[in-house]
Amino acid sequence: MDKQPRNRKEASFYKPLAKARVRCLLCPHKCLIHDGEVGFCRSRINKNGKLYVLNYAWISALALEPMERLPLKNFYDGMGTMSIGSFGCNMACSYCENHQLVASHGTGRVLYPDEIANIAAHLLDRGNIGIAYTYGEPVTWYEYVMDTAKESQKYDLKNIMVSNGFINKEPLIKLLPYIDAFNIDIKSMRDDMYSTMLKGDLASVLNTCKTIKGSGKHLEITSMLITDINTNENEIEALAAFIADELGKEVPLHFWGYLPNGKLSLPPTSFYVLEKAANIATRRLDNVYVSYGKNA
Ligand code: SF4
Repeated sequence: MDKQPRNRKEASFYKPLAKARVRCLLCPHKCLIHDGEVGFCRSRINKNGKLYVLNYAWISALALEPMERLPLKNFYDGMGTMSIGSFGCNMACSYCENHQLVASHGTGRVLYPDEIANIAAHLLDRGNIGIAYTYGEPVTWYEYVMDTAKESQKYDLKNIMVSNGFINKEPLIKLLPYIDAFNIDIKSMRDDMYSTMLKGDLASVLNTCKTIKGSGKHLEITSMLITDINTNENEIEALAAFIADELGKEVPLHFWGYLPNGKLSLPPTSFYVLEKAANIATRRLDNVYVSYGKNA
């Protein structure tokens, strides 16, 4: 069977406008996209007034990983998952751990939802519990995540999303029935860091966390700490307070130490800084973990 062209899949959430323009409604950027142009995430293109997905079925990375590397510590601990990712991201973090993958447009392999679900099912006897959508930003891979999660139900696979949480409420609610567990990255508790350094917004991310928790799905939070950027004691206290008050003190929090990456070149975050943050957070939370993330 011939593979369909990679940009044939029409986007699920957008509004056609006059003069062949479209408004993408998938994430809070709500990009206004002119004919022939792509959105901020570079994963959606306007062709003749219709919005198409460019990264649909493109697999840029695939690995069988232990759950704690996602990180999900309190969800099938000791088991593993088949992690997959594609290009495209709707934030622009200067310290991105996956910046090469995110920018790797059109590289990798095309594997359709039935094919990738079949591969994951074959790994069940090697400790795999399902599929984790990670590495790049799975919000920008929305249609593929949805189709694959539906397909994987045939094999009783778990579906996991590791995300920056920058998604509009309507698409999130439509996706929730198909995803079993989320790890959401709260990168800072400051609006200014989100708007300048990350090109996102804090309120949208916090709302995503509340919507997921309200749905009853498993939720864990990650926060990468970068010395002197987001390690202020007040900020750590604000993060712990948000989780305790709005999500529940049982929700796990993972502090990841920054290692030099992407365009940012700062000293690695010391273990002392991570431990200090963990000590502050454990005053409010039951499950706080520290590590140096996937690239350690
Ligand atoms: S998903 Fe991409 S194109 Fe759509 S609004 Fe967000 S950044 Fe823009």
